Amino acid sequence: MSDTTYLDWPFFQPHHAALARSLDAWATQQVPQAHAADVDAACRALVRSLGQAGWLRHAVAGTAHGGATEVIDTRAICLIRETLARHSGLADFAFAMQGLGSGAISLAGSPAQRAHYLPRVAAGQAIAAFALSEPEAGSDVAAMQCSARVDGDHVVLDGEKTWISNGGIADFYVVFARSGEAPGARGISAFIVDADTPGLSIAERIDVIAPHPLARLRFSQCRVPLSQRVGEAGEGFKVAMRTLDVFRTSVAAASLGFARRALDEALARASSRKMFGGVLGDFQLTQAKLAQMATTIDSAALLTYRAAWQRDQGRNVTRAAAMAKLAATEGAQQVIDAAVQIWGGLGVVSEQPVERLYREIRALRIYEGATEVQQLIIGRDLLREQAAAQA
Ligand SMILES: Cc1cc2nc3c(=O)[nH]c(=O)nc-3n(C[C@H](O)[C@H](O)[C@H](O)COP(=O)(O)OP(=O)(O)OC[C@H]3O[C@@H](n4cnc5c(N)ncnc54)[C@H](O)[C@@H]3O)c2cc1C
Repeated sequence: MSDTTYLDWPFFQPHHAALARSLDAWATQQVPQAHAADVDAACRALVRSLGQAGWLRHAVAGTAHGGATEVIDTRAICLIRETLARHSGLADFAFAMQGLGSGAISLAGSPAQRAHYLPRVAAGQAIAAFALSEPEAGSDVAAMQCSARVDGDHVVLDGEKTWISNGGIADFYVVFARSGEAPGARGISAFIVDADTPGLSIAERIDVIAPHPLARLRFSQCRVPLSQRVGEAGEGFKVAMRTLDVFRTSVAAASLGFARRALDEALARASSRKMFGGVLGDFQLTQAKLAQMATTIDSAALLTYRAAWQRDQGRNVTRAAAMAKLAATEGAQQVIDAAVQIWGGLGVVSEQPVERLYREIRALRIYEGATEVQQLIIGRDLLREQAAAQA
């Protein structure tokens, strides 16, 4: 493990630091580093081993259902994502999707839904997915068109979802669809759809620059029992936002993991690469780059763990989570770019660690709310606060 002094920050309790240290030791032994040729098989294997080792217990809530804690411990989730991301983007992805895919069930599922799905998610025996985005509804998620029509004691889903992580390998999808109780965001409900439900098909597998299972889903007269609805009718948007409130901060944490790894790689190269009668790190221009990288990482870490701590205190976290995601994802991109520069030509060679990081970080500035969406959330929140103070 590299610099771990941040584990002593007051945001953490002793068990948080212990968790991060023991996961780091486990990941050093158990997590393959290179991008896998068969990403589906690699992802399934990672989910299994994360489950068997007990790490996925932190991705779900409720000790009766295999969870490590009664309520989701955001700081634990963030430390796990940060640690796994430092070792492997796919390992972080496998952990994160078990949490994001089952988050709605942890937060708003019925007792029967929790008992049926969460223990298998926590054990790594069932793979979860979160299906919100559509081809015409990404940032503007309330524009979704996938429809949910009640028919007796079932609901019939019709439409498409795209960019669905774990699409093609998931055992179940939490699907958000327009159920029509009201216009816009108030007319959306969430449903758990098992992968083998007739009418659900994989319309397309999508290849991205940092490979992981990703697909477009098609729902065609897909009948799902009404008992599979998560939360009340028309409450789906709220359920999605509550889930994202937890996992948005964890995207910041994953970015931190990528950035810390990039700084480690940059330091190793700067201190060993011989040039001009010394090593690269002897030059002040290099020292300035390293200083900026470390400062960017610490600022992002402070924002990330403030947001995680704030959520664990039961405080509103919308603005803090948006700031954390904005600063950590954008900052990590800069840190990783600087690491590639320090590595020179080697930095752009396929499968070098910094080259992998360069591809891994890019999507994090887009998903779970692009940078511009985070800016809007923060800006609007500031203005709302100002208006409230003047009222
Ligand atoms: C690798 C990956 C994995 C994903 N996994 C999932 C998943 O598991 N489940 C799921 O439901 N979705 C998933 N997504 C979808 C993701 O959440 C969307 O890509 C994201 O919400 C952006 O939507 P979009 O791609 O349609 O871009 P658009 O909505 O078309 O936005 C394009 C760009 O416009 C800019 N922008 C957005 N809003 C504004 C604004 N108000 N003002 C100015 N500029 C703006 C941003 O830069 C944005 O990147 C994933 C995406 C990727 C790339």
